[in-house]
Amino acid sequence: MTNIHDLDFLSKQVHDLKDQGVYRKIPVLESANDAEVIIDGKSVINLCSNNYLGFATHPRLKKAAIDAIEKYGVGAGAVKTIAGNLNLHEELEEALAKFKKEEAVMLFQSGFNCNAGVIQAITQAGDLIISDELNHASIIDGVRLSRADKAVFKHSDMNDLERVLIEKRAQYNQVLIITDGVFSMDGDLAKLPEIVELAEKYKCLTYVDDAHGSGVLGENGRGTVDHFHLHGRIDFTIGTLSKAFGVIGGYVAGKKIMKEWLAHRARPLLFSTYLPPAVVAPLIEAVKMLSESDEYTKACWDNANYFKEKMKKAGFNIGHSETPITPVFIGDEAKTVLFSKTLLNEGVYVSPIIFPTVPKGTGRVRVMVSAAHTKAQLDQAIECFIKVKNSLEQ
Ligand SMILES: *Cc1c(COP(=O)(O)O)cnc(C)c1O
Repeated sequence: MTNIHDLDFLSKQVHDLKDQGVYRKIPVLESANDAEVIIDGKSVINLCSNNYLGFATHPRLKKAAIDAIEKYGVGAGAVKTIAGNLNLHEELEEALAKFKKEEAVMLFQSGFNCNAGVIQAITQAGDLIISDELNHASIIDGVRLSRADKAVFKHSDMNDLERVLIEKRAQYNQVLIITDGVFSMDGDLAKLPEIVELAEKYKCLTYVDDAHGSGVLGENGRGTVDHFHLHGRIDFTIGTLSKAFGVIGGYVAGKKIMKEWLAHRARPLLFSTYLPPAVVAPLIEAVKMLSESDEYTKACWDNANYFKEKMKKAGFNIGHSETPITPVFIGDEAKTVLFSKTLLNEGVYVSPIIFPTVPKGTGRVRVMVSAAHTKAQLDQAIECFIKVKNSLEQ
């Protein structure tokens, strides 16, 4: 007799993953998430974190976190709507609203949480949500939680979006068009100006998840909406505080009335404890640093452009990214995994991205260059890429 508590149904599925060659052990970093990290006791160049600006280890952010702990302790103590809303949270929301040039910002515990809470709160039965087919998993999950009907358009295909609008617009009350601002697998931007035009033509609301754009694109990292000069024409702009901002958290920027409603209906704010002081204070500092100076975003772009240029010259296919995200295409799945393993042995840490995350045959290692890398580190990484490419071609 087998015992059901041995969870054989899971063992079988894990076994299947191993058979398909997609089983992965989660890597352990034995150091801070910096330009170089220690893995298995060895220092390697880190080209796969989302810490675009090097803020995760920045001295000004660390100091703000330590000071906040001294004053406020380590926990918020409650959900936002009961007793977890500190003046620090309010200060961060105001600073972010100003930075994003929006009326109001509501903070969430993460970008994922923000999508899970906001989409459901702002839509209802009788509404339609139209979503780009490559939108992030947290959008897909957020959409699943809504009682609205759902439709998907082909990735960044404006004819297909308009086809859905022509077919369906008249049957619904509100229609919400949702897109990533930056698509994280290829680094391409949403066609926001066209999306906004279609939204205005068909009287739809717009929702942009700018997780990879905030802190990176636009004036001083104000994001994709700023990059396209679309202030005031996007209804809901989501951002994360876990990537370029270096800590953790998410937010939605938009109208004051949106914030009032979310305070009553966004479930993560009603049923999950709020962000701790040591998270919020360094984020206030991060917004201050970005508002004061474009040196951080400039350094990130400068490094990214340097890396891309040299990789192209070395004959690598790096796709058509419009952001610091640099996919280096290998193609075959097994070869992609082998490429990243060999690179790690050579001292460069990148993540392999293969089917089913991306289409079959488009396996790639995804390079995330940050402001914290030195040119010497980038040069060394490029040399390793060339060495590994040559060794695997023989
Ligand atoms: C990373 C990401 C998120 C999740 O953000 P977290 O703050 O890490 O939870 C949400 N949406 C998109 C598009 C992302 O890339």
